[in-house]
Formats: sequence, C-alpha cells, structure tokens
Amino acid sequence: MIQSDHFREQLKQVIEECGLDPVKDAFTRCLECNTALEPVAKGAVEGRVPPYVFATQEKFSLCPKCWRVYWPATHQERMLVELKSIR
Ligand SMILES: [Zn+2]
Repeated sequence: MIQSDHFREQLKQVIEECGLDPVKDAFTRCLECNTALEPVAKGAVEGRVPPYVFATQEKFSLCPKCWRVYWPATHQERMLVELKSIR
C-alpha cells in the first residue's frame, strides 16, 4: 500500500519494502537474460552504443551471454518505468 502522494516518498517506500538497494543492485545483471554483467573498457564498446552514450558515459558493462552492452542509464530508465507501472 502506497502511503504517500509524494513521488519521492513513494519511491523510498517501494525501495524499503522490496529490500532494494538501487545503487548496489541496479547495475549488476542483464535485463534480458539475468546473467551477471562484466565490466568492459570504454574503448571496447565504441560503435556498439549510440554516439551520445559513448560521449557521455564512462562506465560500461557487457553481458557475456547475449553480448548486450549496458551503461548505468539503461537500468535507471527501466527502473523508473517499472516504478511508474506500479501505480
Ligand atoms: Zn544477457
């Protein structure tokens, strides 16, 4: 049961009740196959991510199973979508 009308309070409550650690857990597993991601050097993903992503992000991870490249914003956007869908 969401108790607050304020988005930040709702977010805090969801994180607490689900036992989430958004900093620690948000960027460790592939969204497609749930395989643990491996850090990859920035130079290794050039041409595999959109140019603006390559220009603005410093940390990248690679799924060793399906070869998807991730950067922190992919997970943050997904988390926001999921949090909105809860309401
Ligand atoms: Zn994967």
